Amino acid sequence: MAVVTGASAGIGEAIARRLAKEGFRLLLGARREDRIRNLAEELGAEARVLDVSDRASVTAFCQGVEEAQVLVNNAGGARGADLVVEADPERWRWMWEVNVLGLVQMTRALMPALERSGRGHIVNISSTAGIEVYEGGGGYTSVKHAVHAISQTLRLELAGRPIRVTEVMPGMVKTDFALNRYQGDQEKADGVYKGVTPLTAEDVADVVAFAVTRPPHVDLDQIVMRPVQQASAYKVVRRS
Ligand code: NDP
Repeated sequence: MAVVTGASAGIGEAIARRLAKEGFRLLLGARREDRIRNLAEELGAEARVLDVSDRASVTAFCQGVEEAQVLVNNAGGARGADLVVEADPERWRWMWEVNVLGLVQMTRALMPALERSGRGHIVNISSTAGIEVYEGGGGYTSVKHAVHAISQTLRLELAGRPIRVTEVMPGMVKTDFALNRYQGDQEKADGVYKGVTPLTAEDVADVVAFAVTRPPHVDLDQIVMRPVQQASAYKVVRRS
């Protein structure tokens, strides 16, 4: 079985669709129940409501999962683009609770099931924001740097056990990410992708599918992927 968090939209939804094609049985989680239920019905999967930032919700979600070969920690995102000295604590708290503590809680809760599978695989969707910084990105880059550190630490701590840890670090991907970051401001969100051919959610799903279908002795540690026009977070060559 493969468990995908944040499967109700964007990258998580694309990963769910792709892993279903690869023949995985799926357990999908997100807060928007109607969306995951519809997707699960379409894919012949199971869906359960999940708020990764809520411990009780994580426990209820993982209840009865005896074995899981794959856990994709995808739920996350950015809120705002505050300068550090103007940081809105509530937005920063949301980013830490979902991207970091949510990932840790899910990993912890599913560890026995991953181990029982005999060939577990944790895939953390972090970001190029996990290895780069930019002005206004202090909140988001700090949480994704934390995911980067946690992924490397986990790999060390799990060495010798049959569990792989892959960190996928995408640059710009066209999803609702920017719209959510800028609280529904469509114009601002469109500006992020202006003049660029961004990655698609399916491009990321493709890479995840490749990683989880390698033979069990092969661990793809870190995969950085970007649109060709984006050399770094602050060097994007846009078409005029
Ligand atoms: P979307 O905003 O389209 O999707 C975010 C997903 O996370 C939704 O399914 C949402 O579901 C889920 N989610 C948010 N909060 C919670 C929560 N508390 N509990 C459970 N699920 C939650 O963005 P993306 O698909 O682009 O983002 C997916 C991941 O990829 C994120 O971790 C993001 O940081 C990362 N990423 C995105 C990039 C991009 O450019 N788009 C680039 C690099 C990384 P619901 O609201 O139903 O709970």
